[in-house]
Amino acid sequence: ILEDKIHTTVLEVNLDHMIHNLNYFRSLLREGEQVMAMVKASGYGNGTFEVANMLEQQGVGFLAVAFADEGVALREAGITMPIVVLNADSDSFDLMLDYRLEPEIYSRSSLQSFAETVRRNGETDYPIHIKLDTGMHRLGFERQDIDPLIDALKTIPELYIRTIFTHLAGSDEARHDDFTRGQIALFRELSDRLVAAFPQRHILRHVDNSAGIERFPEAQFDMVRLGIGLYGISVAHQEHLLPVSALKSRIVQIKEVPVGDTVGYGRHGIVAEHPVRTATVPIGYADGLNRRLSCGKWSFIVNGRKAPIIGNICMDTCMIDITGIDAHEGDTVTVFGEGAPVGEMADVLGTIPYEIMTGISTRVKRIYT
Ligand code: PLP
Repeated sequence: ILEDKIHTTVLEVNLDHMIHNLNYFRSLLREGEQVMAMVKASGYGNGTFEVANMLEQQGVGFLAVAFADEGVALREAGITMPIVVLNADSDSFDLMLDYRLEPEIYSRSSLQSFAETVRRNGETDYPIHIKLDTGMHRLGFERQDIDPLIDALKTIPELYIRTIFTHLAGSDEARHDDFTRGQIALFRELSDRLVAAFPQRHILRHVDNSAGIERFPEAQFDMVRLGIGLYGISVAHQEHLLPVSALKSRIVQIKEVPVGDTVGYGRHGIVAEHPVRTATVPIGYADGLNRRLSCGKWSFIVNGRKAPIIGNICMDTCMIDITGIDAHEGDTVTVFGEGAPVGEMADVLGTIPYEIMTGISTRVKRIYT
């Protein structure tokens, strides 16, 4: 009860809808294909442990995080399934062994450094995940690296390749489809060589992210890496997904502002033609509400009606125009969610839903329904 009172601004996360979305993507896979669920950046902002726990119960095969400490937190919370660390820093390799976290290996130096750590710790038969760069040009081995990589791996019996993967740079945009098909073909060629070099192991291959699963079924291989789709966003078939998160707050004060006055910092909320009824809502840019949404660029939903932000968003609060809306102090407002999709907010800001979702600050309490 106390917590509910303290946390006026909350992110409501619907785990049942997440399960629905997981099952939708699973329905697109061939028999036996596995899912690696992306829970990096605190489950795309939706919270890590609750999401991971649900995924473990749903029989998902692997989790992926960006950094070792994210994996450590999951282990500390009791998650036992395989966890891949994508941007593993060599300084975190000892810690990763302690917590049985599995690194993405993307360069000769990351391979050598991890091998040394594994030997020093007396580990044998430790799994690694080989990343191939087929056109994203972020991390990964390229064509000319494959033979030296095979030679190097043959001298490191302490390690084995559990999976090989690549990342598509534009699987969500039709204008890049030829490029994407080229990435898939290159991946097939390079990964075939690696798989052939280690025939004693059953190496899993994975390429598709969420958009890839929907748009490039030929690249599903043995596993897919499901991220944004799990959290309710699809570029291809939004109609199959259920919304997962809603950012909500409450009206804490209502004011009548006369013509000629202004609202908020910088006096940008100008009341010109008729008096305005404003509601103050305790969410600001420190919560992840982008200040560029100030001055009418975005509207909250109040009792089913759109209430535009008036004036500049403050650090911890903002004001909305509720003129003509039957609203009272204590009423719930939806910042994004039903009637105010996060995708539309992203369009207004010229960004992608990923950035908004992962930008909701930790002081916003996550509530699971
Ligand atoms: N695989 C890798 C390597 C990624 O970095 C990401 C996300 O950034 C994903 C998969 C998941 O992508 P999406 O969220 O578009 O499904």
